Amino acid sequence: MPYIDIHTHNAKAQEEVLKVVNIFPWDDVEVNSQEGLFYSAGIHPWYIDEVDVKDSLRNVMEWLDTGKIAALGEAGLDALRGPEISLQEEVFLRHIELSEEFEVPLIIHCVKTYNEILALRKRTKAKQPWILHGFNSSVQMMRQMTEAGIYISLGPALLKNKRLQDVCREVPEEMLFFETDVSDVHINDIYTKAAEMRGVTEGELKDLVNNNFRKIC
Ligand SMILES: [Zn+2]
Repeated sequence: MPYIDIHTHNAKAQEEVLKVVNIFPWDDVEVNSQEGLFYSAGIHPWYIDEVDVKDSLRNVMEWLDTGKIAALGEAGLDALRGPEISLQEEVFLRHIELSEEFEVPLIIHCVKTYNEILALRKRTKAKQPWILHGFNSSVQMMRQMTEAGIYISLGPALLKNKRLQDVCREVPEEMLFFETDVSDVHINDIYTKAAEMRGVTEGELKDLVNNNFRKIC
């Protein structure tokens, strides 16, 4: 049973790890299905101003058409970086539409915009799974997210952050993922910590995350 790393920027295949590698539509990458590698693509809010949004979305749609990407994103909202929120929201809405149209999950970047993401989930009545990557908020916020059909992905911050360890104990098992994002942390260290927090074996934790992955990807 592999470790699932639901969001990483490290494209190197790794033994016993199944990765969803984030690529940007303007990257010159060869998207081929190597064993253990899946891809997600989308316009990160930080770069909206620096790229041609239309061209980038066209690239993403071509990848979607050929079935070469398993998920959209990361896309989303960032209150601390990137262009004004109204523009970020406009681009994020395009990703939501594509996710619904092509029936693929959406990986979400969210910094200090948890309420906005929740409101958009409700307003758009989106049905596809959303995965909130690098979740970093409270147990109450996690509950609101999972009740709205948004999966929670916990990253390297889990190793140090006490509040996230509380979150980790409480996430419903059918809504849970883990990730390494841009860090050098090994994904198995995150599983070890999370298994300890949840009082299960690492094998049990891998099983349930694999089930979640198979359900949506
Ligand atoms: Zn990322």
